[in-house]
Amino acid sequence: MTVKVRIAPSPTGNLHIGTARTAVFNWLFAHHQGGKFILRIEDTDLERSRPEYTENILQGLRWLGLHWDEGPLFQSKRLELYQAAVQTLVDKKLAYRCYTTTEELEALREAQSAKGEAPRYDNRHRDLTPDQEAVFQSEGRSFVIRFKIDDDREIVWNDLVRDKMIWRGRDLGGDMVIARAAVDSIGQPLYNFAVVVDDIDMQITHVIRGEDHIANTAKQILLYEALESKVPEFAHTPLILNQEGRKLSKRDGVTSISDFQHMGFVSEALVNYMTLLGWSPPDSTQEIFTLEEASQKFSFERVNKAGAKFDWAKLDWLNSQYLHGMDVQKLTDLIIPYCEEAGYQFTGGRDRAWLEQLVVLIQPSLTRLKDAVDQSQLFFTEAVGFSDEANTQLQQQGSAETLKAILTVLENHQQLSETTTQDMIKQVIKEQNVKKGLVMRSLRAALTGDMHGPDLIQTWLLLNKISLDKPRLLQASTVV
Ligand code: GLU
Repeated sequence: MTVKVRIAPSPTGNLHIGTARTAVFNWLFAHHQGGKFILRIEDTDLERSRPEYTENILQGLRWLGLHWDEGPLFQSKRLELYQAAVQTLVDKKLAYRCYTTTEELEALREAQSAKGEAPRYDNRHRDLTPDQEAVFQSEGRSFVIRFKIDDDREIVWNDLVRDKMIWRGRDLGGDMVIARAAVDSIGQPLYNFAVVVDDIDMQITHVIRGEDHIANTAKQILLYEALESKVPEFAHTPLILNQEGRKLSKRDGVTSISDFQHMGFVSEALVNYMTLLGWSPPDSTQEIFTLEEASQKFSFERVNKAGAKFDWAKLDWLNSQYLHGMDVQKLTDLIIPYCEEAGYQFTGGRDRAWLEQLVVLIQPSLTRLKDAVDQSQLFFTEAVGFSDEANTQLQQQGSAETLKAILTVLENHQQLSETTTQDMIKQVIKEQNVKKGLVMRSLRAALTGDMHGPDLIQTWLLLNKISLDKPRLLQASTVV
């Protein structure tokens, strides 16, 4: 048996972190088993589905490296298949037309809630006579198709994550709607039905999805049986929770993969982090791995039942690890769009070679790609503002003189190198009879406007290449 799994997002929003994590687990399992990973777009909700969301989902999955073997298959293109399957169930008397109106259903719900009962359909149209049907039809009522659910039925499955699961038919809300209202034909299929027809048709062997689908699984198993098909294995993965232990939502700042991308997370780090959201490798000290490496070790035995808390600090740490180890060419490519968005101009000597050197300089202090904007700001503005600390430094005795002395020696140098800067510093120390610390601190304050930052000599060399060092030294030496 070839393992076949699927991710089945609904294009009613951008690719959600929960859906993406489900996709990760599907991908890992498929690759572990040498199976296939299928992408199906569940766009039967015509009002809420939008092509731009489909595009966002496809882009997000590709960006994360979650390549699929088949698809994308669109449910909206498969309506005839569902309608035929509905008809089969109607013919077998396992499903029927229900003419109950919205008002009648509302009244039923109110009566149930007045008695403190959970809302459920009371199966009132399960056994309509042809005459009764004829009356409803003559009234022009529309009908939905309901699938019969036996109250006494016990539904049992062995969940790959949650072990033995038992549901009772009576807890499923009465006979379930499988096709939406229509007047003279079978209407649009509903989620639970289309999913089963597709999973059968696509020969899905393992349904791996979030635990919010558990109640659906109970209903879907009944549909598999009614359609005389083998029931697949189910694995319900834990939800992603925020720090307060509630389901991660928009209120937590971000929910979609494109948001994370925009915030400056790299795909390798995000996908690595997602593998750890609810799963741990056998050697739990190993935290950094590619999808391929994780897939070799993946099993449902090591997927937690409890919800997975989203940990920003951990994601940041992972991201920084990937950024610090990244090839400079690649990192430069990734940083450029953030700098462009910040309005930085790549002119006046700021060519690719210069930019790569800048990236080498800031690389060790990056956590997110976006940090590059702040950390390289001083290279894209003419004059820097001085921090209080830098101001204090520049007012120190000897500071302004030192900077003037540096400016003077600078006159003799066209192109600076690491050696020439070191020589110049030595010369100034000697001529001015000052301590090295004073020279270095004054230089840093003057060139960067701050007292902390990356390697000073490299910073100077980069500023020199874009002719910003002299004006800064001049500006700072006249601050007092
Ligand atoms: N379209 C469903 C969702 O977005 C898919 C659920 C399933 O995997 O069956 O949650």
